[in-house]
Amino acid sequence: MSERTLRVTGRLGLHARAAANLVRVANQFQSTVTLHRLDNSVEADAKSILSILMLAASRGTNLRIVAVGIDEVTALDAVCDLFARNFDEPQIGERQPIAVQEELRCKGLGVSEGIVLGRVLRLQDGTRDVYRAEIDGADLERERRRFRAAVRLSRRQLETIKERAEKELGRGHAYIFDAHLLFLEDAKLTRDVEDYIVKERANAEWAAKVVGDRLLSIYMQINDEYLRERGSDIEDVIQRLLANLTGEGRSHPKLSEDAVIVAQDLLPSTIAELDLNHVRAIATDSGGWTSHMSIIARGLGLTAVVGLRDFYYRTRTGDQIIVDAQRGEVILNPLAATVERYEFTAQTSSPTVTVAPQGVSGPVTTKNGIEIALRANVELPTEFEAIRRFGACGVGLFRSEFLLSRPGLLLSEDEQFGSYRALAEAAGPEGAVIRLFDLGGETGYELSDRPERNPALGLRAIRFGLKNAKVMRSQVRAILRAAKFGNLRLVIPMVADVADIRRAKKIIAEELASLSNEGVEHAQVNIGAMIEIPSAVLTADKIAAEVDFFELGTNDLVQYTLAVDRGNDHVSEWFRTLHPAVLFGINRTLQVALDSGIPTIVCGEMASTPAYVVLLVGMGAVDLSMTPAAIPRVRSTLAQIDTAEAEVLAKRCLQCAIADEVEDIVRTEFRIRWPQLFPPKALPAQLAD
Ligand code: PEP
Ligand code: MG
Repeated sequence: MSERTLRVTGRLGLHARAAANLVRVANQFQSTVTLHRLDNSVEADAKSILSILMLAASRGTNLRIVAVGIDEVTALDAVCDLFARNFDEPQIGERQPIAVQEELRCKGLGVSEGIVLGRVLRLQDGTRDVYRAEIDGADLERERRRFRAAVRLSRRQLETIKERAEKELGRGHAYIFDAHLLFLEDAKLTRDVEDYIVKERANAEWAAKVVGDRLLSIYMQINDEYLRERGSDIEDVIQRLLANLTGEGRSHPKLSEDAVIVAQDLLPSTIAELDLNHVRAIATDSGGWTSHMSIIARGLGLTAVVGLRDFYYRTRTGDQIIVDAQRGEVILNPLAATVERYEFTAQTSSPTVTVAPQGVSGPVTTKNGIEIALRANVELPTEFEAIRRFGACGVGLFRSEFLLSRPGLLLSEDEQFGSYRALAEAAGPEGAVIRLFDLGGETGYELSDRPERNPALGLRAIRFGLKNAKVMRSQVRAILRAAKFGNLRLVIPMVADVADIRRAKKIIAEELASLSNEGVEHAQVNIGAMIEIPSAVLTADKIAAEVDFFELGTNDLVQYTLAVDRGNDHVSEWFRTLHPAVLFGINRTLQVALDSGIPTIVCGEMASTPAYVVLLVGMGAVDLSMTPAAIPRVRSTLAQIDTAEAEVLAKRCLQCAIADEVEDIVRTEFRIRWPQLFPPKALPAQLAD
């Protein structure tokens, strides 16, 4: 055995490029070469890149290098020589390496309320339950075998993918799968997962996730773009392993600990699958105020900050985190003093669950005697109970696609019937409006494995239904059958014009006839159109002649009128709810409905926000549907408003040329007219001074 002690002097420590050079040199010898940290006795195999990276040897770390074998002396010389040459790295200006446990603060957009202190659970999009289960000693060997089988399966899949890539794209494009195979074969990954299983008596999924996250976090501490890319390759491999592990058909226990979900993006389908009893908060890289993820977070009373850009890659599962939705900020690995300060605040400001004062429910009457219906938007059956709790006039929008918890997994007609009947019963005499599946777009429920180039403009909502008539027919049948048990209406999402309405109504009429012919119990329902794209606004008078009611989807109306992706934080400054063009669309729709004698329910996020609600009623809205928790606040606002005053302001706003001008009117005039309702803090974030 030969050994020597030395210190890491390179600016970035033993980062991946240096580690790769070290592996190259060590592999030239037969001897084993190991690196041992003197401060914490962690050791690494110099022939494994993952192992070296796991050492996390930053500048100044003292290492003992040990070589054992027939050429140990020359091997040791060569390795020490490489250290002395600073790994043949180009010398660049000094920069501070990133400290491992530095407190990290990131700004995003708080989309709900509350402050939460918790532990990170990273979820990659498409990742579903990753849980921790305690494995009995006798079963540990079986758990390791299960992991090895997943590795073998992953290897076979990667080899096939690599072959196909070579054939179709050429050798140059297939190299990436060589890297994936190398990661998969690295004993550092496989052995560490197996060791973790045994040492922690953990299930293979959890072990793979923890080890994978550790590896990733080491990559992410290195200030090198190339490395970040390799990080996503590791992530990819870990995801493949996890998919292959869970693909064995095990039933998944629930999350056993309260978690803060950290993700790049969180698709509604993923949220629907989470055990929400154990999710305390959400922090995501992408997203905006009207992303479905944000809507659901508000609906469930979950603290959430979105639009954090590249936060996800800086975290690892198990890290301590503070999510402060009030300030739109997250703090990773907070210092003890920060935690102390926040623990006090968190106790006093978890999401405020306002309930309707005893007996207060139904419509609200404004100061000048106008009655306004306040309904609930509902996504998940867990929210049914909130309809009563917040005193809603039934359900103004049931986003039925949230019943589908996995992409590609549809519910049978009978299963849907059960859910719609439960909804009808929960909604009470005011009833519920069921929206036909709004699949596609950003909902994450695409039923095809070929992603669309432009999902928001693609096969979304009624377009999907018309192209997949079987899916639509079974939903229509389930709704018509459930209508026998309560007051249900049906609304068609994202209609472009009357052609969509006519095609949809034809299918509905055919299913009505079939149910009658089959002698199946059912009832007729009123049919409405979602008005949320500009062509529907412009042809609203024609549409009104063919439907029983309108629903104004202001979230999509903003998105499509202004051509701004509602979930893309890079363009969030262009997502201007109060843009005059949006107000024009709302005003026109409300007017057309009034002239045609049909009602309009306004159901986008605008209807949940008191300041916007004032403008909506100023333009004539008398039927609003919102996240249930917003009802008490909107109720109290409207009770103190005279709609004639709101109308004057709305008219002024409609004359403006740009969003800034409208926002100025709201900021200044609202404060003057209703100082008790709109102090600066009560205005939406977009209007903050
Ligand atoms: C809307 O677009 O405003 C709406 C209510 O529907 P969703 O947010 O589900 O698209
Ligand atoms: Mg919509």
